[in-house]
Amino acid sequence: MDVRAQLSMVLHLDKCIGCHTCSVTCKNLWTNRKGTEYMWWNNVETRPGTGYPKNWEDQGKFRGGWEIKNGSLSLKSGSKWGILSRIFHNPDQPVMKDYYEPFTYDYANLTDAPESANQPIARAKSRITGESMNIEAGPNWDDDLGGSREYAAKDPNLTEEDRVLFGEFEKIFMMYLPRLCNHCLNPACAAACPSGSIYKRGEDGIVLNDQEKCRAWRYCVSACPYKKIYYNWDRGKSEKCIFCYPKSENGEPSACAHSCVGRIRYTGVLLYDYDRLIQVLEAPEETLVEALKSCILDPSDPEVKRHAKKAGIEPDWIQAAENSPVYAFVKEFGLALPLHPEFRTFPMVFYVPSLSPVLRKAETDMTMENFRIPVKYLASVFTAGNEAAVEDTLKKLLGIRSYMRGKELADKELMEKGISLSGWNGRELEKAYRLTSLTNFTGRFVIPKTRRENGSSYEMQGAEGFLDHGKNKR
Ligand code: SF4
Ligand code: SF4
Repeated sequence: MDVRAQLSMVLHLDKCIGCHTCSVTCKNLWTNRKGTEYMWWNNVETRPGTGYPKNWEDQGKFRGGWEIKNGSLSLKSGSKWGILSRIFHNPDQPVMKDYYEPFTYDYANLTDAPESANQPIARAKSRITGESMNIEAGPNWDDDLGGSREYAAKDPNLTEEDRVLFGEFEKIFMMYLPRLCNHCLNPACAAACPSGSIYKRGEDGIVLNDQEKCRAWRYCVSACPYKKIYYNWDRGKSEKCIFCYPKSENGEPSACAHSCVGRIRYTGVLLYDYDRLIQVLEAPEETLVEALKSCILDPSDPEVKRHAKKAGIEPDWIQAAENSPVYAFVKEFGLALPLHPEFRTFPMVFYVPSLSPVLRKAETDMTMENFRIPVKYLASVFTAGNEAAVEDTLKKLLGIRSYMRGKELADKELMEKGISLSGWNGRELEKAYRLTSLTNFTGRFVIPKTRRENGSSYEMQGAEGFLDHGKNKR
């Protein structure tokens, strides 16, 4: 057993109100500079939708992430020799129109325009060329299903049957999906980088790009299946979410999590077994979610603790792992799922899938068929199509809701329904309720301070700068 520690996040989607505060806070803090105008390290998408950049989930187009080829894990963007042979030409790159042309408004004209018969206006100006422009896209262009027949209907996770719903608005469903870099356990961005500039920190698993070493080949941009690494056209370097490490090293949550209005975000430590990583990443799609979860270790197991100590993990990190809200969500209660596990990067940001709006009928029948958001859709987003895994999670969420409602109304039958739906006893249900609904700041963020002087970086790259599983110890 080779125990590693990872800072990770859970987002409880039922609580997201789509306010974009997280995105704006992140933008003000990290991407308010020249060359970063179009970058949103954190963005919030309305689902169904094509997201930002448009159609990022389409790996047929971008060839991001990993696949099983000849029985083993391979980068979709190609072998190291393949990448080197076309290093000056990467047709899988997203281009400006996949994001949007960043713009501002000519505010000065409102005060400086010469006297005229007409009211002065602030026209949109491109932040690239400075010229007047017509806005045709933005980072949240399909917000709240705006233009849904044009945009949302193209969501690749929709079945043909569900796509028809865009003509019947009273039946339509939507949810918000906030996204950031997943600080993956098997980051495709790092593996594809010909310069070896992307690395995963040993002490907390945060994935960073060494700005000195980056040579702007941009293979990281196409290889990241989540499109969460961006090219700064002014500096000629790739940039990405840094999990606000200057804050996390000090025991504080990232800006997006700290500012989250819906209090949907939780941050904590996970311990995982590096020795089993490749094996679980090669699991068949039907069992992928369970396989990935099996790699996450129980931090209160004495054997795990012994191995963690042996691996040099600090005692306060082991203790934080025991109190981790992320562990509680992902493993203890099994309420949080990874985003597109089939990309096989093993993302370390997890989501509690949306249950609401629960239709009256679903509440009475407690059956999945009456849920407004189709299980098939959620399975396509969170479990590589495994509907049973989504149903299991939704049943638990519905169980918590039913039990607590029954308790409030002194309705024993409803409480029993909650117990049978979730498979938990009353004490467990109340604990899960407190975790999902009542947790305060110190419960949501259990982040130990980092002793950087004791830290190390995983040796993510082989001699040529490529991830080489099995040969290189991280
Ligand atoms: S989500 Fe982040 S760590 Fe994972 S591949 Fe993309 S940029 Fe790399
Ligand atoms: S700040 Fe929180 S509630 Fe608001 S959009 Fe972001 S994740 Fe959702």
